[in-house]
Amino acid sequence: MALDPEHCVFCKIIEGIIPGAKVYEDDKVYAFLDIAPFNFGHTLVVPKTHCHAISELDDEYRAAMINAAAKIAPAVMRATGAAGYNLLLNNGQVAGQEVPHVHLHIIPRFVDDKVLLGASQKQYEGTAMADLQAKIQEKIALRD
Ligand code: 5GP
Ligand code: ZN
Repeated sequence: MALDPEHCVFCKIIEGIIPGAKVYEDDKVYAFLDIAPFNFGHTLVVPKTHCHAISELDDEYRAAMINAAAKIAPAVMRATGAAGYNLLLNNGQVAGQEVPHVHLHIIPRFVDDKVLLGASQKQYEGTAMADLQAKIQEKIALRD
């Protein structure tokens, strides 16, 4: 399946048509910071093919997405000082999926962070997003 940059915001980010704070990329996957994070460092891992449902995704892209998340999540933890993380995949509008391009959320979690998934997204101020992007990239590179 191809990308659909004309209609899809995540395909636009993958193609570089609109900016995304990329933390990781390989031939099948693109990962970037969520613009409205539940906690700072919240990262989205998306396959480089336009597909709205996990069940419709080619096996190799599905495997690449989960493998990339397993690699990126520890780097997000080390960059943010998180104690754990949620991996979340909303499939279908009724399940909270707003962007119809499959994406795995990596949500760093802190003790008593009071995050209610689905209810409390934050905003980055100033250079905070770029600073954290660079820090996560550095931590991923350190693990390679
Ligand atoms: P969903 O609700 O579909 O599972 O999650 C979509 C996520 O994409 C939301 O957490 C939202 O903040 C994020 N998002 C939507 N548009 C953009 C964008 O243009 N840039 C980035 N970085 N994140 C986006
Ligand atoms: Zn797309």
